[in-house]
Amino acid sequence: MIPLSAPSMKTDHWQQQLAGAFNCVEDLLSFLDLKACQEPGMAAADNDFSIRVTHFFASLMEKGNIDDPLLRQVLPLGAEMENTPGFSTDPLSDQSAHTGYGMLHKYHGRVLLITTGACAINCRYCFRRHFPYADNQVTPSQWQSLVGQLHRDRTVSEVILSGGDPLSLANGRLHTLIEDLQDIPHLRRLRIHSRLPVVLPDRLDSTLLDILADCRLSASLVLHINHPREISTELTQALLPLRHLGIPLLNQAVLLKGINDRAHIQIALSEELFEAGILPYYLHQLDLVRGAAHFAVDDQEAAALYTLMQARLPGYLLPRLVREIPGAQSKTTLPVSQNR
Ligand SMILES: *Cc1c(COP(=O)(O)O)cnc(C)c1O
Ligand code: SF4
Repeated sequence: MIPLSAPSMKTDHWQQQLAGAFNCVEDLLSFLDLKACQEPGMAAADNDFSIRVTHFFASLMEKGNIDDPLLRQVLPLGAEMENTPGFSTDPLSDQSAHTGYGMLHKYHGRVLLITTGACAINCRYCFRRHFPYADNQVTPSQWQSLVGQLHRDRTVSEVILSGGDPLSLANGRLHTLIEDLQDIPHLRRLRIHSRLPVVLPDRLDSTLLDILADCRLSASLVLHINHPREISTELTQALLPLRHLGIPLLNQAVLLKGINDRAHIQIALSEELFEAGILPYYLHQLDLVRGAAHFAVDDQEAAALYTLMQARLPGYLLPRLVREIPGAQSKTTLPVSQNR
């Protein structure tokens, strides 16, 4: 007889890793042999939006390198405390929709559901940094009301589970959410937006795979990978069963100054994504969120970089270079000159 506790112990494995994530600047820097690099400004930035990074993601960083592109995405810096004009706490003007939990319906046919505010990692450039109650989950009654709205709105054919990170939810919770969604007859597609497999490949456990395999809706997974070094062997291995299930794997990246704003890095990213079975989908211009101004790449530089990518990559490995403009009917493609 299989002991009843077996599946939940398996689930616990990634949850334990999540619970043991670095949440102190000093610990991360000493793990990376960078203790001498601690600066006073880090404490203020950490206080504003606390550091969080899994041990797995930290293990992909180069020891002794304060400019490591993976470290730079998570390390609080004094520069975040500068108040740059044009950078706000609510760059997408949807604070009202985010502070409650629920549904963002901006584009035709698809809705984005904020299932949880929790993430496995705190990316310094994230718009979430200014939202309160960041670790809360949608409550059962809020969920029932969302499901009711979706039953009534027959124009919606795709649901995107987002957050926070939807894969930070326990499998049991996810299973319930997905079962409720697949009972809505006019829904056809289920999309999951997640960075969790990148920072914790063990999250793609067999229970989650079973949930996705059993789902009536056509599922896809959109990962968030910014730099080729984030594509670990562990991630590639963990994605294999999803590929066998025929679940399309896509990637969205954020264009970040000093991290991935060089053409050779973007080209390597696209090529290595493809080798891991992932297609590049979007390359996002940064949301103008306060505290992230030092990551911004201006539009002209972004367009020049994109032109170089276009000249080197096959069309199917070119992500769409986009920005999110409040009120637009879709992501907005940046104008890029084709003839160079
Ligand atoms: C980005 C986003 C989507 C997804 O857009 P696609 O172009 O379909 O990938 C959906 N809803 C909201 C609110 C979004 O911000
Ligand atoms: S994983 Fe995504 S939602 Fe979470 S902190 Fe990073 S950018 Fe924000």
